Parts: sequence; C-alpha cells; structure tokens
Amino acid sequence: MPSVLRLKTYVRPRAVAAVRFCRENVYIRDNYTCQYCGTKLAAKQLTLDHVVPASHNGPKNWTNVVSACRDCNQKKANRTPRTANMPLLNEPRAPSWLPTLELEIGEDHIPPDWTPYLRLSTG
Ligand SMILES: [Zn+2]
Repeated sequence: MPSVLRLKTYVRPRAVAAVRFCRENVYIRDNYTCQYCGTKLAAKQLTLDHVVPASHNGPKNWTNVVSACRDCNQKKANRTPRTANMPLLNEPRAPSWLPTLELEIGEDHIPPDWTPYLRLSTG
C-alpha cells in the first residue's frame, strides 16, 4: 500500500441533503411540542398548523408550518399568530440535521466485526 495518494481529480463532497419536509419531521423539529402552548404530545395527538393560514396564501414549508395541539389549532383557526394573539414559542426554521435512521437487526445477524461500533440495546 502506498502511503501517499495523489488525486488526479478532486471529487467535491456532495452538499448535505436538505431535511425532507413532512409531518413527522416537523414534529421532530418541534420536539413533539405544541408551538403555541408548549404541551408535549404524542405524534397522533399533534396537528400541523399553517402559521400564515393557507387561505391567506401561507406556504406549506418549514418556515410556515409548526406542530400544534388540537386545541390551539382550533383556537387559532384561520388567523395569523398576531391576529389570534397566539405568539409562537420558536421561530420555525428548516432544520439542519438529518433524522437518524434506526435499524433493527437481529443480534444473530450482526457481523462480529461491527460489534465494537454498535450500541446494542439491552432489553
Ligand atoms: Zn397547544
């Protein structure tokens, strides 16, 4: 094996992929917390709220969609946070992380060489 390699061409690393905009990722970004009242809920109890309502041409994207509990979503209805007097707890932004991929592998199928690098769940 040579100790030094000269690259004839430089391969630029690909830009980090943007986090896909979808319901579950919005909940993850918001830590499963209603962005109006701060209540933490299970995904099935949360809703997506358009900050600027779709009826006011609010887009469906990272900066205009937040997690909200059903009560707050109903209370806010077709209003902006300002007109509803319901300020957001956090300014919605596109996240820079990528959701971690969780793999489940039967312990019998793990190649022995991998084990030093795996955190095995016990239980
Ligand atoms: Zn709420």
